[in-house]
Amino acid sequence: MKTAIYPGSFDPVTYGHLDIIGRAAKLFDKLIVLVSTNPAKPDCFFTLEERMDFLKRSFNTLKNPENIEVDTHDGLLVDYFKKREADVIVKGLRAMSDFEAEFQMALVNKDLFYKAETVFLAADVTGTFLSSSMVKQIAMFGGDISAFVPHTILTDIQAKLKIKKQK
Ligand code: ADP
Repeated sequence: MKTAIYPGSFDPVTYGHLDIIGRAAKLFDKLIVLVSTNPAKPDCFFTLEERMDFLKRSFNTLKNPENIEVDTHDGLLVDYFKKREADVIVKGLRAMSDFEAEFQMALVNKDLFYKAETVFLAADVTGTFLSSSMVKQIAMFGGDISAFVPHTILTDIQAKLKIKKQK
């Protein structure tokens, strides 16, 4: 039984994340999508509860979401990795720009715990330009984000972003 962890801020989840989630869930017996309370990204726009809720409500777009779990962890990823007796950390790579930071993180995690292997999945062609920040910026200016996030969470995202814009 191989367990993979896909960590990220998912602020908010996009079709790019969901593509990685769907493909990783097929490759491993269990996939844990780990929503971070990342100190390097303290300025998440959506709360932890909202980000977890958006993820769960997005899984109806996936073919076989049965082996996917959403969880959160406040602390080192490798500590969670040990606790869950995981086998692999999954990350998505959109372009060379993702590579340096992701490569560094993979090396650090391996150094902290020798069993913490990272597997990189190349982004889907249509997802290479897609990021949570881009989605937030477009929505904040009233643009159409329906091609980037699932229909089930679209109105909640738009509603909160519009509230911010009005301030
Ligand atoms: P971001 O990097 O957009 O702030 P996250 O921290 O939530 O998003 O990213 C979590 C993981 O998902 C990272 O490995 C990141 O490279 C990957 N990822 C983010 N967006 C995409 C996408 N459009 N396609 C593939 N992987 C992605």
